[in-house]
Amino acid sequence: MNYSYDDQNIFARILRGEIPNRTVLETRHALAFHDINPQAPVHVLVIPRGPWVTLDHFIRDAGADAQLGFWAAVSQVCELLELDDGVRFIANSRDHAHQEVPHFHLHILAGRPLGPMLAR
Ligand code: AMP
Repeated sequence: MNYSYDDQNIFARILRGEIPNRTVLETRHALAFHDINPQAPVHVLVIPRGPWVTLDHFIRDAGADAQLGFWAAVSQVCELLELDDGVRFIANSRDHAHQEVPHFHLHILAGRPLGPMLAR
């Protein structure tokens, strides 16, 4: 895979502070914020700070420190939001998955029964 990172994407701009966000958690390695168009009572996005386009890009090329830091932030968000009743993690990657923003982000969805994974 060839990954080409567009540093004008909206999450890159959020990371640079050019666009506001509703922050849930900020760490050295990641930023977590509320999705602007929530699909569930809890809908948080967690993004790494580096220039990674998709989850597969991130796990192929990001260093161990960045990867550990990212997943630690995901864990902290889950603790903060007390997602004891269940949670769905989604990482849309490229066209067929309908990825809209080309900066790796993990959706964290919770707060109600979420139904089957995909619409039929
Ligand atoms: P995806 O389709 O997986 O790329 O998801 C992109 C997500 O980013 C969507 O759920 C959007 O609602 C969300 N989104 C787009 N712009 C913003 C923004 N400025 N702040 C928060 N969430 C956003």
